[in-house]
Amino acid sequence: MSDESFNPIESLASIRHEFGEHGGVNLSIEASTTFTVLEAGTMPEIFGGRLGPDSGGCYLYGRHFNPTVFTLGKQLAALEGAEDGYCTASGMGAIAATIMQLCNTGDHVLSSRAVYGGTHALFSEYFPQKSGVRTSFVDITDLGAVEAAVQKNTRVLYTESIANPTLAVADIPGLADIANQYGLALVVDNTFSPLVLSPIQLGADIVIHSATKFIGGASDTIAGVICGKTEFIRMLMDLHTGSLMLLGPVMDPTLAFKLSLRLPHLGLRVTEHSRRALYFARKLAALGLDVAYPGLSSHPQHELISELHRPEFGYGGLFTLDVGSAEQANALMEHLQNKHRFGFMAVSLGYYETLMSCSGSSTSSEMTQQEQKQAGIKPGLVRISIGYTGTVEKRWGQLEDSLREIGLL
Ligand code: PLP
Repeated sequence: MSDESFNPIESLASIRHEFGEHGGVNLSIEASTTFTVLEAGTMPEIFGGRLGPDSGGCYLYGRHFNPTVFTLGKQLAALEGAEDGYCTASGMGAIAATIMQLCNTGDHVLSSRAVYGGTHALFSEYFPQKSGVRTSFVDITDLGAVEAAVQKNTRVLYTESIANPTLAVADIPGLADIANQYGLALVVDNTFSPLVLSPIQLGADIVIHSATKFIGGASDTIAGVICGKTEFIRMLMDLHTGSLMLLGPVMDPTLAFKLSLRLPHLGLRVTEHSRRALYFARKLAALGLDVAYPGLSSHPQHELISELHRPEFGYGGLFTLDVGSAEQANALMEHLQNKHRFGFMAVSLGYYETLMSCSGSSTSSEMTQQEQKQAGIKPGLVRISIGYTGTVEKRWGQLEDSLREIGLL
């Protein structure tokens, strides 16, 4: 289903290589917060957005475009097959700035019910109170329900490509058809599936990432990305109405430099995360356990994702295991961590070590019990982001032992 002519790895490799200031093979960190203007007469042109990094090479101020962050934005846009991109201080900064840019007071967002708890709280509690932008939540896998929930004032259709934590897969081309029909912006959070899915190529207008996760890969940085049309990225930086320029959640250039060094091996990492996740998911399924993974034929959207994804990057690095209760989930995670050092009981994902959390009592705890139930988040659901340290066979032995310990085997 993906556009055959687009290949994210080729796309990144073929954009202009940014050398460092002294010919260094890596780009330089431009730490300056302000930039010298050589001719006073150009100042109004710069402030008016007519002279900028893409048109005349002028930079203005660090909260506006910064050269290092600008380059990373272009690299991430190349990976996503987007026209342009810019980077933010966090994934939440990217989501908030995007919605604030697209919506005015009184506008409506139609969102998937199964989204990260912080996104859910932003949409259901923060925005209505602070900005009068309201959200309704819907089962994103039911296109009929999505279309029926579009309102006159809906501006944004919002989904995660693979949902946190249910791993429901969004039918991005189907959602894009609805978005086109009703004039909505389709915004996709692709945090769980960089390279696996290319939402812009599948019809999304804007892609967001928490780069804190797979893109960073080392659980050492909080970061975000927004990719879309150049016109949209420029709007975000408008001096009068731009949410990045005026609210200020832009990325620091030192961090942009660090992340740019990790993009060339993102594909290798994602491939290995996915390979191991599939290995574990298959073994758990063979034991008759309640495992969810988009790569298993039992997953409700397995056929869909098999059409949409890039096979070389697999089905993503996360699976979930429902062990029946929060107590059982805690016992399993404690045993895995404290006896075997299988991984860490910690939120987040995309780290080289395995991270495990019980979603209902952690990253989805912003949702009420009723909302969790509607979204399919069961109390005993353990979300596992599979790392790639140690041998996979030894790790499987540790998981089997811990499952035995809590009486599931
Ligand atoms: N989107 C998803 C799917 C997430 O899982 C998270 C965080 O867990 C975020 C966005 C927010 O990202 P950040 O923590 O970088 O602000």
